[in-house]
Amino acid sequence: MTTDLTRLSLADTAKGLKAKDFTSKEVTASYLYAIENATALNAYIAVTADQALDMAAQSDQKLQKGEGGSLEGVPLGIKDLFATKGVHTQAASHILDGFKPEYESTVTQNLWDDGAVMLGKLNMDEFAMGSSNETSYYGPVINPWRVAGSNVDLVPGGSSGGSATAVASWLCAGATATDTGGSIRQPAAFTGTVGIKPTYGRASRWGTVAFASSLDQAGPIARTVEDAAIMTTSICGFDAKDSTSVDMAVPDFAAAVERGVKGLTIGVPKEYRMDGMPAEIEKLWQQGLEWLKAEGAIIKDISLPHTKYALPAYYIVAPAEASSNLARYDGVKYGLRVPGKDITDMYELTRAAGFGPEVQRRVMIGTYVLSAGYYDAYYVQAQKVRTLIKKDFEDVFNAGVDAILTPATPSAAFGVADQDMQADPIKMYLNDIFTVTVNMAGLPGIAVPAGKDGQGLPLGLQLIGKPFDEETLFAAARVIEKSHGLEFTPNKWW
Ligand code: GLN
Repeated sequence: MTTDLTRLSLADTAKGLKAKDFTSKEVTASYLYAIENATALNAYIAVTADQALDMAAQSDQKLQKGEGGSLEGVPLGIKDLFATKGVHTQAASHILDGFKPEYESTVTQNLWDDGAVMLGKLNMDEFAMGSSNETSYYGPVINPWRVAGSNVDLVPGGSSGGSATAVASWLCAGATATDTGGSIRQPAAFTGTVGIKPTYGRASRWGTVAFASSLDQAGPIARTVEDAAIMTTSICGFDAKDSTSVDMAVPDFAAAVERGVKGLTIGVPKEYRMDGMPAEIEKLWQQGLEWLKAEGAIIKDISLPHTKYALPAYYIVAPAEASSNLARYDGVKYGLRVPGKDITDMYELTRAAGFGPEVQRRVMIGTYVLSAGYYDAYYVQAQKVRTLIKKDFEDVFNAGVDAILTPATPSAAFGVADQDMQADPIKMYLNDIFTVTVNMAGLPGIAVPAGKDGQGLPLGLQLIGKPFDEETLFAAARVIEKSHGLEFTPNKWW
């Protein structure tokens, strides 16, 4: 069977299905075939082939009658963090062994309501903690990109590494992902794909396994800006089941994609020019600014003075919330249970066996910073810093800036089991230096491929927007996408 249908963009897949050029069963079968032949990438940890073909058959009936939603018959991959009714949902953790929820997350339900087809569950860092997809209980995800002439495996970034790899290697037309500190944008940048974290409150968190609730937000990883816009429209919307969900109309984001940037003011924060930043990242950033300027944007130097505190504050707030959210995994209600001599022993043995080392590190840090005597020194202090970071952005937007351009990551994808990163967790944490501020401030951020490094690996730029102004991000990202003139297509080796 040909796998050509897997090479179409999500937008073209939806169009082709509506035009009856092919059926959802054909596209779905093509993706399932591609998935079967891509086990080397380790992107999927559960493939729901029967369910996918059933959903495709239902879509085909609707499409035959000229009915169906915006994603009717389009096959998607779902990050393992989203609860999918009756289907493997383990946040790529051992502690949730065998967990099949009784309910569907709002984000995935929205996609099914618009007609999408589920191919399966995607690998990720355990509980979304990581920047390389190496903390998964199911083993690392491999980036489809390699340095020319090399067979060294590279990471796809994390925590949505399975989503990014699956989209980049044609194993789904688009994928769901989540972003607490950069987990949509960093893997998108490492794989030459587009990822957007919507404004906090745009997408419901209901039914998404919680990591750090005040930072977590769902969004798509897709192959083009238009595809990301279509998925974002479907994913977002008010949900009474999430008290932080915002009751605001969701625009048709795809309609904003070709809007252009004429007359928009794009801010360039001086604090993002980090010491030791590789020259090629600096060059890419400059190039991005020139592209936006050529299309009529006004470029303005800005200052976000509290940027340097964002990463340390994030690594207080996120583990604090994680330690609280992860307290529920104790061997009683779901997943793994390791019997002990009494109930406390059972809790301890279960948590020691069920959580991997990175998750345990976060739970310990979080418990420490929330404990009596340290709460004020760490947690309260970090929350104050967070307010200042948010104010930095507010000041800049109030002064007339429409969006901010920065690099998405400090480097291109690195090798699996990188010695430096393994030896020093802080080196791994530094991957999110450009992305965490956006979560701390609750703003929307998009990563878009913009160039390649000296070894031919993808590099991305990030655009940060005003609250609920994702439309400007799609429009500006589209300008970059149109300007780079490059193909972001990995050579198939798997
Ligand atoms: N890499 C960051 C962390 O490990 C962000 C993860 C995320 O956004 N889920 O916490």
